[in-house]
Amino acid sequence: MKTIAIIAHDGKKPEMVQFLNGNKEILNSNEIKIIATGTTGSKTEAAGYKVEKLLSGPLGGDAQIAARIAEGLVDMVIFFRDPLDKHPHEPDIFMLMRLCDVHNVPLATNPATAKLIIRGLV
Ligand code: PGA
Repeated sequence: MKTIAIIAHDGKKPEMVQFLNGNKEILNSNEIKIIATGTTGSKTEAAGYKVEKLLSGPLGGDAQIAARIAEGLVDMVIFFRDPLDKHPHEPDIFMLMRLCDVHNVPLATNPATAKLIIRGLV
């Protein structure tokens, strides 16, 4: 069983849904567990996936995912960041990305990269 964490900033949620819809064959499998920040998780559910939803990003959801990365509980992170917007929880965002590098966890920050690395899961 592999655990994938999914996070998408508001400006990137449509692309995230498009990504999920376009990759159901790989991602909607019993071998994959999805965890996500609150709003991203709701949209992921609406796209037909089973998801463990954590807090919304600005309320600590990124930090919760970062903690799971530190505990070795996440195999891959899909984090569709919006580079054109400001975020009140920027310290949490950097923490999450830093911990991916500390623990050598694959991190995709855009759909092109995510598409390539999910192929390594199967
Ligand atoms: P959200 O959080 O999924 O609750 O919108 C994502 C984020 O802004 O980090």
